[in-house]
Amino acid sequence: MTEKIDIKSLNFDELKALISDMGGRAFRTEQIYKWLHQKAVTSFDEMTNLSKDFREKLNNKCIITCLNPVKILTSKIDGTKKFLFQLKDGNVIESVLMKYHYGNSVCISTQAGCRMGCRFCASTINGLERNLMPSEMLEEVYRIWQLSGEKISHIVLMGSGEPLDNYDNVLRFIDLITDEKGQNIGNRNITLSTCGLVPEMYRLADEQRQITLALSLHAPEDETRKKLMPIANKYSINELLKACRYYFEKTGRRISFEYSLVADINDNLAEAKKLSELLKGMNCHVNLIPVNPVEERSFQRSNQKAVQQFRDFLISRGIQATVRREMGSDIHGACGQLRKSYQETANRNMMDTKEGEI
Ligand code: SAH
Repeated sequence: MTEKIDIKSLNFDELKALISDMGGRAFRTEQIYKWLHQKAVTSFDEMTNLSKDFREKLNNKCIITCLNPVKILTSKIDGTKKFLFQLKDGNVIESVLMKYHYGNSVCISTQAGCRMGCRFCASTINGLERNLMPSEMLEEVYRIWQLSGEKISHIVLMGSGEPLDNYDNVLRFIDLITDEKGQNIGNRNITLSTCGLVPEMYRLADEQRQITLALSLHAPEDETRKKLMPIANKYSINELLKACRYYFEKTGRRISFEYSLVADINDNLAEAKKLSELLKGMNCHVNLIPVNPVEERSFQRSNQKAVQQFRDFLISRGIQATVRREMGSDIHGACGQLRKSYQETANRNMMDTKEGEI
C-alpha cells in the first residue's frame, strides 16, 4: 500500500491539485483548507459540508496528522503550560504556552531531539531522532489552542531542535501558519532561534520575510563559544555576525542575540566588555538567560548579581539588553528536560516489565 498523503502539510495550491485529481470541485479546496487550518479538525468526519462519499475518499487517500497530548503541566507561578505530545511513530516532543501582556506565545519544537550538541542543553543529549513535518509543527500550535482555549498570537521556534537544520519543513510551516486562509499569524510575531548555521542564515535572509532572527551567541569569543557549542568549530563569530548584518540589510529586522549566562565561563565583566565591542553599532537586542542547570551537565547558573552587572554593563555601552523572565521554572523549564525525563521513565517502565517477565 502506498503511504497516505500528509494533507495538513500541503499548501493551498497543492491541496487544490489533489482535490482536482480526486474529482472534487474547485470550491472544495477552500472548504477543506478551512477545516484543517482554521478549525483544526482531527478527522474527515468533522468536515460536515462534504458528502460522506467524498469524506471517505479523502480518508482512504490522506491522513490528518494529529498530536496526542500525553502530559500537560501548568506552572503555579505564572500559568505557563508545558505540553508533552506523542507523535504517530511514538516519539515525544514538547511545546510550551506562555502568556504575556501582548498575547499568547507558543514555543515549538522543530525536531525530535537535536544533533547540535550544545553542552548545556537537554534536547541534544540523545542526539537527533528525526525532523518534524510541517503538519506536526502546526499541530503543536493547533492542539495547544484547542486544549487551552487560548488563541495564539506569537510563535517562537525555540523548543527542541535546530530549525535551520530542518529548513524546508520549517519554512513550509511558517508559510502555512502565516497564511491568511489559515491562522493568519503575522510574520513579525514569529521568532526563529538558531545556534548559527551560516549558509541557512543567508538563505533565510534572501527569503526576505519579516520574522525575527534570534542567534544563540552565548560567548563573545570563539574559544569560549567552542567550550559551549560544537557548532563554533565550524563557523566563527565573525562569520555569524556578517550573516546577521546581511539578515538586517535584507529584512530590516533587528537581530536578537541570546546569551545564556554560565557561572565562571562567560559571565564576567571582561566578557560583557568584549560583547559590547563586538555588537557596537549593530541594531540588535541582547537576551540574557541565566542558564538552566541540566542534571547531566556540570554547568552552574550565574548568580543574580553577576546577571545584573552583565546587563547593566551592556546598557551602559548603549546596547539594549534584558534578562529573560523565567517562565514555568517549576515545570521543567529548560529546553528538552520534560521530554527527557518522560523518556527515561518510559525506559525504566519497560525494563521493569522485562524484569517482571523473567
Ligand atoms: N537550536 C536553536 C533553538 C533551540 S534552543 C538554538 O540553538 O537557538 C533555544 C535557546 O535556549 C537557545 O538559545 C539555547 O542555547 C538555549 N538553551 C538551551 N538549553 C538551555 C539551558 N539549559 N539554559 C539556558 N538556555 C538554554
